[in-house]
Amino acid sequence: MNADTIVIGLGAMGLSAAWQLSRRGQRVLGLEQFGLAHDRGSSHGQTRIIRQAYYEHPDYVPLARRAYEGWFDLEQSDGRRFVTICPCLSLGPVSGELILGVRRAAREHSLPVEELNASDVRRRFPAFEVGDDMVGILEHTAGIVAVEDSLLAMAADARRFGVELRENETVVAWRLDGSGVSVETTSGTYRAERLVITAGPWARRFLDEPLTVMRQVVFWFAGTKRQQFRRDVFPVFIADTPGGYYYGIPALDTRGVKVAQHYGADELPSPDAINRQVGPADEAAVRAFLQRYLPSADDRVEGLSVCLYTLTPDRHFLIDQLEERVVFAAGFSGHGFKFAPVVGEILADLSMWGKTSLPAALFRRRAFTPV
Ligand SMILES: Cc1cc2nc3c(=O)[nH]c(=O)nc-3n(C[C@H](O)[C@H](O)[C@H](O)COP(=O)(O)OP(=O)(O)OC[C@H]3O[C@@H](n4cnc5c(N)ncnc54)[C@H](O)[C@@H]3O)c2cc1C
Repeated sequence: MNADTIVIGLGAMGLSAAWQLSRRGQRVLGLEQFGLAHDRGSSHGQTRIIRQAYYEHPDYVPLARRAYEGWFDLEQSDGRRFVTICPCLSLGPVSGELILGVRRAAREHSLPVEELNASDVRRRFPAFEVGDDMVGILEHTAGIVAVEDSLLAMAADARRFGVELRENETVVAWRLDGSGVSVETTSGTYRAERLVITAGPWARRFLDEPLTVMRQVVFWFAGTKRQQFRRDVFPVFIADTPGGYYYGIPALDTRGVKVAQHYGADELPSPDAINRQVGPADEAAVRAFLQRYLPSADDRVEGLSVCLYTLTPDRHFLIDQLEERVVFAAGFSGHGFKFAPVVGEILADLSMWGKTSLPAALFRRRAFTPV
């Protein structure tokens, strides 16, 4: 194939880049070392939270809005729903990072959110046992994105636009080659005018950036009072507790409510160092959270998944040009999935025009100071 653009890595960001480029008439070749929607990187595990009142930084809000439009476009071309609207409850101490950050983003971008005190939280969501030292902020326009289904839909739509997606083909090297790039894989060498690098946890193979990898284990719990965790009565949640950040997603099937700790594990230099077995020690932190804040979920484990975060030192994304014809996106730091459609747009803009009108300045290459 004679491609305009080669995309290395077909997780959430690479598939989106291929999809967005194909919608602009670009001929794209995508290369993935495993199969599409595999479970060894960062983009698996059925569901992701999408939200707009972004405690991490208010600059994410316009991009979150744009991402909702992108998911809607995908839904229209596919005919299925991938985003389920469900309120997001942010819980934490009144002057903690989470509550202050959500409030700031909501204020700066006029997002409608509802402030709850601890007794409001207990009354509205009886599953939560929160002390009076905590408050809640409820964002009604948040939701849940279907992970594997949406990515396979992106792949299918991209293929309809003529994209070639090659699975089980590992890229071993790339180089600038005359007026284009040359990419060497385990099966051959390909040439294109431009290159997009979206290698997720493996990004350091191609990028000289201080990225680390963190193993995350997510659990599904049946719950002793299953009806408390149904999507119509239980929110998506993020909780800022003395033991760290935890998040959860209501029960969508018989596995029950999904709960995990956000961060809280060792940072490792590469995905090869990850232990993919789950042992009793992995449950300890989540169990302690459930016993304190969500006791009726402290029940049998009905499912689990090991997933990887790729972290930047400041936990903000990295999306930029590497060379004139080479762009990359990496370091989504455990909160990138919701943005996949708009990250694909930014990559397509940078790749085709060297700039983007989308507000992505926060993600440029930068000198990191350790957190
Ligand atoms: C447990 C968990 C929960 C999360 N929850 C949320 C959430 O609620 N909301 C949210 O917005 N985000 C969330 N995230 C973050 C989000 O899922 C990630 O930011 C996003 O999936 C990252 O996508 P990616 O494309 O960068 O990486 P990946 O999906 O890992 O894709 C990288 C791809 O590149 C391929 N690749 C690498 N090297 C090569 C090579 N040499 N040759 C060919 N292919 C290669 C890999 O095989 C992989 O498929 C969560 C992440 C985890 C792990």
